Amino acid sequence: VTLVPDDRSNDPDPETSSSVIGVDLGGTKLAAGWVARTGRRVGPRRYRTHANPPAAAMVDEIVQIVEELRSERPRSLRALGVGVAAQVRERDGSVSYAPNLGWTGVPLGRELEARLGTPVEVLNDARAATLAVWRHGPGRGEDELLVVIVGTGVGGSLVSGGHLLGGASDAFGEVGHSILVSGGRKCHCPGRGCLEAYVGGWAIAERARESADAFPERAAGLRAAAGRTGALDARAVRAAADDGDPLAREIVSETAGSLGQGVAGLVNALNPRQVLLGGGIIDAFPEFLPAVVEAIRAHCQPPAALAARVGTVALDPDSVLVGAATRAYDNGLPLRPTGGAGAGRG
Ligand SMILES: [Zn+2]
Repeated sequence: VTLVPDDRSNDPDPETSSSVIGVDLGGTKLAAGWVARTGRRVGPRRYRTHANPPAAAMVDEIVQIVEELRSERPRSLRALGVGVAAQVRERDGSVSYAPNLGWTGVPLGRELEARLGTPVEVLNDARAATLAVWRHGPGRGEDELLVVIVGTGVGGSLVSGGHLLGGASDAFGEVGHSILVSGGRKCHCPGRGCLEAYVGGWAIAERARESADAFPERAAGLRAAAGRTGALDARAVRAAADDGDPLAREIVSETAGSLGQGVAGLVNALNPRQVLLGGGIIDAFPEFLPAVVEAIRAHCQPPAALAARVGTVALDPDSVLVGAATRAYDNGLPLRPTGGAGAGRG
């Protein structure tokens, strides 16, 4: 292995020495941008939506967006980091399972390396966002950190002992699919009763529609907020709750309770010092934070409860691509060569 020397030493401005492109491949969107080692995105972010094309077409799309970015900066790309809404085998960059993209067993990292001629790191998007929060965000300096991201789905990961833990198959921190209710609501994964099936954006929408169907005489507020029952989503629940609608408020309160119980279970099991909650649902429902704090106080063993500080983090749209780029800097362009003969910078 040849270690490429870091060019920061020759460049007084680390922003101009960025040499990694971060890519965020979500279920419906593709975003990419240059990222400095400081975690700052440099230059414009390229963004496009997609309708789940086959893997080969998506590789073409990624290559195209990377080539566009490459043409804007007259320096050679030295590594690429890709965060994917999928289960990823990080050691070879392959996507094991991506239900949102309809992929199984796609060698994404290897194909991109072959096409772009540069090292490529691939990791799960929630793990990438956790890495960004830990290394460049409010989790910086904390070596016992749990990040729970509640958006349409629920993801996250855990930093312990100063490492982003990987587990046996790089799936450490699939907190959304920890079981909250035995035999409970059907999840989007093969399971039932997962935390995500109660607090994910899709699950809040599903529960709101069920409530509106079950209690039509109480559902006028929800229906008005949504336009029609079929369009009921988490946003409509928020709007109806703000208007004082009792049914919407019940749904919010139940969801807060479920999230609190779920996070309390994680705190008992994982003993983090800092818990950061982020994602679109956390942004939209500020009442969830005090519910989680209260649940930890009520349900956690004293040592775990006393250790855990809980807060929220506003994840910006670049979190995944910045986290993916951070992984590429770490693995592809180490700051200090570590070990091995001839690895010194001379
Ligand atoms: Zn699940």
